[in-house]
Amino acid sequence: KGHDQASVKQEINQEEVIVAIATTVGVGALAIVRLSGKDAIEIVSKVLYKKNGQTLSLYHVPTHTAHHGYVVKPDGSLIDEVMVLVYRMPRSYTGEDSVEINCHGGALVTEEILRTLIEAGCRLAEPGEFTKRAFLNGKIDLTQAEAVGELIHAKTYAMHRSAMVHLKGTLSKRLQQLRSELIRACALLELEFDFSEEDVEFQSRDDLRQMLDKFIQELEQLVSSFEFSKVIREGIKVTIIGKPNAGKSTLLNALIGKERALVSAEAGTTRDYLQEPFYYGGVLFQIVDTAGLRESDNIIEQEGIRRSKEQSADAQIIIYLFDLTHHLNIQELNKIKPDLEKLYPEAKVLFVGNKLDLLKPPIVQDVPAILISAEKNIGLDCLLSELKHLAENSQARTEGSLMVTNVRHYEALSNAMSALKEANTLLSQNGNMELTASSLRAAVYEVGTITGEVTNNDILNYIFEKFCIGK
Ligand code: GDP
Repeated sequence: KGHDQASVKQEINQEEVIVAIATTVGVGALAIVRLSGKDAIEIVSKVLYKKNGQTLSLYHVPTHTAHHGYVVKPDGSLIDEVMVLVYRMPRSYTGEDSVEINCHGGALVTEEILRTLIEAGCRLAEPGEFTKRAFLNGKIDLTQAEAVGELIHAKTYAMHRSAMVHLKGTLSKRLQQLRSELIRACALLELEFDFSEEDVEFQSRDDLRQMLDKFIQELEQLVSSFEFSKVIREGIKVTIIGKPNAGKSTLLNALIGKERALVSAEAGTTRDYLQEPFYYGGVLFQIVDTAGLRESDNIIEQEGIRRSKEQSADAQIIIYLFDLTHHLNIQELNKIKPDLEKLYPEAKVLFVGNKLDLLKPPIVQDVPAILISAEKNIGLDCLLSELKHLAENSQARTEGSLMVTNVRHYEALSNAMSALKEANTLLSQNGNMELTASSLRAAVYEVGTITGEVTNNDILNYIFEKFCIGK
């Protein structure tokens, strides 16, 4: 199944020079048009002129230099005044000769430069093709290429931090080491097959089992970190619970800033449970509005039923919303608290009193809760900063350790782990050595797909089709 990189390389023709607008399309002060490929420098030289009208040749300029010039259409008309940066192979992002044209922002200028360059002999890059070439030329491995994608799409500090860890190649370095140790063990085992009559043991069984135990443990840790990294990938789950009419839908709308949930003065009109993402202070939250607890007012009982039924049980934060005009007293809150904490041992429970605007005069006794008016937008800042604070605590647990955040890595690691477990079982039962070796080979393959030491076009397409053009 797995090809080596060389065979994949043949399928994309790196002789072709690719071009793309690397910056966002639209009006901006500056934009960058980038090229990569064997003749990139020559192609740019064809359309570039100096102030005095002579062509600006980049043929002999050294790498990492900047040049001032004008991009001119084939008919001689001027498109823009630009700064051109030249990178010679292998010292470029892609590992190939590359050029970046810094031009004035704006859809027309960049499109015209792009068209002129295509006429001069290059073609439009596919999504992620620059990064794909960087991978194929050995500048980065696959996990780093994926981290580039994660970095570009990161909307939260947590995702950004995780992408930076992977960009450094921490995971791949460890996996490459693990893989080469497995390959060595496997080769020794396979060598024994050639001497099968002589009953030799090149690879001590005890050593091998010890090594596998160690690897399995390590893979287990990585695999389980994926579950844990959910708060990074999907955000901090916040569930709003409370009696009917407490204002749960109103609060959800206020937090996500959209008229999404159905709000009604009639109790229990939230029909489905809704989940909506929202960002605050660089943190991604997923807020869950529960289906109205319509059958009874017994919150705990209702929550118990719901918890056992619904996937929102894994919330990190529970907002218990109550109506301040219902004279809920402190004792009542204190009674609910331990029950909720028992129901949601993993979550932080936050008491929030709503409809502060209706308290006339607004005399509120010492209620151990955040007081808001979801409808009149009072106290929401305070609630948001408390949510952010709790989220940061919850994400702090994920910091510092190596996290698997990518589902592709997770699947390959799980497969590798099962293969190693299989090998270990065979070993402990003094089972068939050829089967053992083939399980080890399977693990070697799986680990190799993560870093890209083993790759094929399906894997590459899966990764790079999610990139934007120009990256
Ligand atoms: P849910 O059943 O908990 O989802 O409650 P809703 O969000 O549907 O709100 C119930 C009723 O309370 C609606 O009529 C809302 O307009 C009203 N409401 C919600 N928040 C406030 C608030 O802060 N102040 C006032 N005065 N009314 C509110």
